[in-house]
Amino acid sequence: MGRSLGIDPIPPKTCNFSCVYCQLGRTTQFINDRRDFFPRKEIFQEIQERIHRIGIENIDYITFVGDGEPTLCRSLGWLLEQISAEFSRPTAVITNGALLYEDEVQEELSIADIVLPTLDAGYAETFKKINRPHPQIQFQTMIEGMTKFGRLYSGEIWLEFMAVQGLNDNSKELQQVSNHIARIKPAKVYVNIPIRPPAEPWVKSPTQTGLHLIREILGNVVEIILPENGKFQLVSNDITGLKEEIVQIIRRHPMRLEQIQELLQQKGISNSEYIIKELERLNLIKHLKYENTIYFVSGDVKRGK
Ligand code: SF4
Repeated sequence: MGRSLGIDPIPPKTCNFSCVYCQLGRTTQFINDRRDFFPRKEIFQEIQERIHRIGIENIDYITFVGDGEPTLCRSLGWLLEQISAEFSRPTAVITNGALLYEDEVQEELSIADIVLPTLDAGYAETFKKINRPHPQIQFQTMIEGMTKFGRLYSGEIWLEFMAVQGLNDNSKELQQVSNHIARIKPAKVYVNIPIRPPAEPWVKSPTQTGLHLIREILGNVVEIILPENGKFQLVSNDITGLKEEIVQIIRRHPMRLEQIQELLQQKGISNSEYIIKELERLNLIKHLKYENTIYFVSGDVKRGK
C-alpha cells in the first residue's frame, strides 16, 4: 500500500478470531460485539496530529489495521467519514471479514476506498481449524456477507488468503476457496505465507508443491507475498519517543533485528543494541526464532508451546 499510515482503534489483541498463524499471538480479548474502546474524538485528534506531523504529501493510504479486528470498533464508520472529509487520501480497512454480513458494517466500510478481507478456508471445518472464530460466527453467514458486500460495494476488494501447510494447501480446499472467490469477485487476491512467528509454533508455510497448487487453482489474479520488503517510519526526535514508537510498531508487527537497526540509523543512532536490550529487560519486547530468523515481538504476546 505504499506509504501507509496505520490506524489502530482497538486495544491489544482484541479479535473475534484467534488465527493459528496470527503474528500477534493468541487472542486475549475474544469478543464479537462492537464497542467504542476509546473516545472517538480522541482517536480522530490523534490521527489529525500525526498526519500534520508526517505531512499528508508523505502518505499514500490511511489504513485501519487493528492490533486485532478493526470492525469491532463501533465508530469505524464515523472515523472513516471524518478522514475522508478532511484529508485527500484514499482509505483502506484490513479486516478478517467476519462482521461483513452486518448491514451496519457494510455501510461503514462502503466509505473506504479499499477493503481487504481475509478468506483462508473453503469449508467450515477448515475455517474453525485455521481462524478459530468466536462461537457466534458462522462460516456460511460470513461468506454470504462477503458476497453481498462484493455486489454492493463501489470500491475495490483485495482479498487475502493465508496459506498454511497441511490445512488449506490441498486441491479440495483450494477449489472451494476458488468457488467462493468467484462469487465475492475481488479486484485482487493476495496469497500470504506465514513469515513471522505465528500464534502456534507448528504453523508452517506450504511446500513448493503446495504453492504450485495454489497458483494453479486460485489462478492468475494471485500474487504470492513473499518476505516483506516494506519500510517503517519513525517520527520522534528524542530517544524516549523513538523507544515508544518501536514498541508500538512491534506490538502490531514483529520486526527483525536489522529492521530495528535500520530505523534507528535513520535517526542517527548507530549503536541500537543497548536500546533493544533495555526494551527486552523491561519486558516490552522479546525475541523469538521462527524458520531460522530472529524476530522481536511484544513482551506480553501469548503463544502456544
Ligand atoms: S490474524 Fe487478524 S483476524 Fe486472525 S487473530 Fe490475528 S488479528 Fe485476529
